[in-house]
Amino acid sequence: MFPSSLQDFQENRNSSPYAAKLGHYTGLAMEVVNLAKECRLPMLLPISMYYCAVMRLEHILDGVVVAHDDGTSRKVDLDWPEKRAIILGKRALNYRARTNLFGFLLTSAPPAPTLPNNPSSSGCAIPQRCETGKLKWLRQMEPLLSGDKCGPLHMQFEWTRYSADVCTYCVMDGKNKYREGLKKSWEELPSVFELEPWDILKTESLDQ
Ligand SMILES: [Zn+2]
Repeated sequence: MFPSSLQDFQENRNSSPYAAKLGHYTGLAMEVVNLAKECRLPMLLPISMYYCAVMRLEHILDGVVVAHDDGTSRKVDLDWPEKRAIILGKRALNYRARTNLFGFLLTSAPPAPTLPNNPSSSGCAIPQRCETGKLKWLRQMEPLLSGDKCGPLHMQFEWTRYSADVCTYCVMDGKNKYREGLKKSWEELPSVFELEPWDILKTESLDQ
């Protein structure tokens, strides 16, 4: 449920729908944060804190009420050190989504030195059209990038539709940058929440 490698995260994202589960049970990520702290399993913290950070700010601040099938309910809340780290992390995640993941929409690819529309040429075939295309997509992404649910690990991009607005080279270049940005965001995830790097978190968790 809460993976500790990017590959794990990507493989499970579709088969084990985090979003759907979290949608039904908003308190889950918070419960895992509390559990990880209590049981000293820091390896579970980055991704569970990530899911908390892409919640609405009110939920992070006030906690959430979880309803049970038997009609009872209880409140799940975080302790202040985690709340603080998650709220500060929210801004850092927003920045990383803009730069690491979707930064390719803000950068111009080098123009192709050879004939235009030649996919094998190493550069953008139609710079002016691609610039306009990227700007259009940046505008389209803006509400998501400014929203509470913005984060660099789960946001999808419609590559097929995007490929109608930019050249083949720019699609390929964008996909490469997106992949690299996802990897970078994963590696940086613990630092977003002021946690130790992944390898230390793993060692600390195994020591328990
Ligand atoms: Zn292009």
